[in-house]
Amino acid sequence: MVESLGIPHTEVGRITANGRDAGFSLQPAPGRQVRVLGHDLPLDVTRSDGFREAYPRLRFLVDDNAAGVVMLLRALGIDTRWDRGTDDAELAAISSDEQRVLLTRDRGLLMRSKVQHGRLLRSQRPDGQLAEVVRAYGLQQTNGIMGRCLRCNVMTHYVEKSDVLHLLEPKTKKYYNEFRHCPQCGGLFWKGTHYMHLINRLKNAGVEIAAGSL
Ligand SMILES: [Zn+2]
Repeated sequence: MVESLGIPHTEVGRITANGRDAGFSLQPAPGRQVRVLGHDLPLDVTRSDGFREAYPRLRFLVDDNAAGVVMLLRALGIDTRWDRGTDDAELAAISSDEQRVLLTRDRGLLMRSKVQHGRLLRSQRPDGQLAEVVRAYGLQQTNGIMGRCLRCNVMTHYVEKSDVLHLLEPKTKKYYNEFRHCPQCGGLFWKGTHYMHLINRLKNAGVEIAAGSL
């Protein structure tokens, strides 16, 4: 009944009937006062809320309609899967099988019964979507933003400058000393202008970036 009003089950944090907690199986009856409430934020998916199972850790799966937020979430260090062109049935299955929180702008997708944890993104812009996710899952603190490859979603690691010297442009060689490397795509990351731009986007979404190394 709640979903027939356009609210996906993933958006429901609490249901009460005459003031007592109730579940999704509650049948409305004459004289029974039913309240359907959203989630208290921040959400912690590692604890069961009585409606859905606890997940071992926070990981995301992103729908094509929110693809712009993928890189920003990876920059926060969070495992964020996105495979372009995945259809709704497959997204619901991956979300369930891999215990990933599904992020989408599609209410219908979140109404699929296979989806347990999901979040409806309201903003059309990636930066607005990031702010929503940061607030919803309490992601305001981060230690470093280059720990995960923005392209591949795998962990990057430090490399000695001397080992990558031959790959660097003259200016990069001159001004930067710390580098991280992606074992999958071979990408190199350093605190250049791209990094500073990314930092600003994260800060604008409510993230506090700890000063320090890469
Ligand atoms: Zn990579």
